[in-house]
Amino acid sequence: HAKRSGRGKVMVYTREMEEAAKHVTRIEQALRRAVSAGEVEPHFQPIVDLATRRVIGFETLARWTDRDLGPISPAVFIPIAEERGIIGPLSQLILRKATEAARAWPKDLFLSFNLSPSQLVDQNTGLHILSILDRNGFDPRRLEVEITETGLMNDPASAEKIVEDLKRVGIRVSLDDFGTGQSSLGRLREFHFDKLKIDRAFVSSILEDKPSEHIIRAILAMCEGLGMDVVAEGIEEEAQADRLIQFGCGGGQGYLFGKPADAEATLGYLRDSFRGAQRIKAV
Ligand code: C2E
Ligand code: MG
Ligand code: MG
Ligand code: MG
Repeated sequence: HAKRSGRGKVMVYTREMEEAAKHVTRIEQALRRAVSAGEVEPHFQPIVDLATRRVIGFETLARWTDRDLGPISPAVFIPIAEERGIIGPLSQLILRKATEAARAWPKDLFLSFNLSPSQLVDQNTGLHILSILDRNGFDPRRLEVEITETGLMNDPASAEKIVEDLKRVGIRVSLDDFGTGQSSLGRLREFHFDKLKIDRAFVSSILEDKPSEHIIRAILAMCEGLGMDVVAEGIEEEAQADRLIQFGCGGGQGYLFGKPADAEATLGYLRDSFRGAQRIKAV
């Protein structure tokens, strides 16, 4: 009976959706509790000058382990936080902890920080960021915010106003995950970004795939013309780094140079890398 099986399918589908919604709600509730208890932690991944391998800054990446649910990826909890209106307090918690940790770093290193699309339609975002920097005595010129093209699309006028507010006090703005999503070159005329981050998808296939190579070279040429810095994301192999240097890419980030690590391990990483640099100088 077609009708019956059709109805059965609808029921199964509904039950699956119900389960999924319940799971999201469980994560939402656990996340609300974690945010008010201050239990989400910033981790830091080094960004290097490709040619010298010197660390120039760190990207802040949120990490959360729930008592019952275990570790949950930011790729899962950030979108839920956005959808359920928790992204503001979550983001402020992470920035507060990150700027506290970064006080122990050499002063020439920058800290970069991801902004979600919904934060670019909230005109309080700039004020919240500035008051955290002010309270923690963190120089705004050491902060970079990473935004994606999706974040600019919802309400470009609002996003532009927030970006202008941030730039006025010296915060740098970078375009994250370039080449994926709703990429539009027109956006690069409207906004001036200080930096562009080439998405891992191109970097991971740079050695095997001619189109990726051409796209990366075109992005690098464009950035040079527009006066933007470039960081290639997701570098895992020496051969990828070599190729990127050969094409003139300035900055790099990826497991090859370091995985995201907590504040304490990051200090250890810095100590080791400075010792390494001194050894090189001594030779
Ligand atoms: P993203 O901003 O593009 O961050 C880079 C992601 O690539 C991170 O994933 C990082 O761990 C991963 N990655 C770095 N190097 C490599 C590599 O060599 N190989 C591979 N396979 N992966 C690499 P993560 O930490 O899971 O974060 C995922 C996304 O979640 C981020 O993408 C960002 O969009 C978002 N996110 C993370 N923390 C925050 C936050 O505090 N606020 C906001 N709004 N979004 C965040
Ligand atoms: Mg990012
Ligand atoms: Mg990225
Ligand atoms: Mg990405």
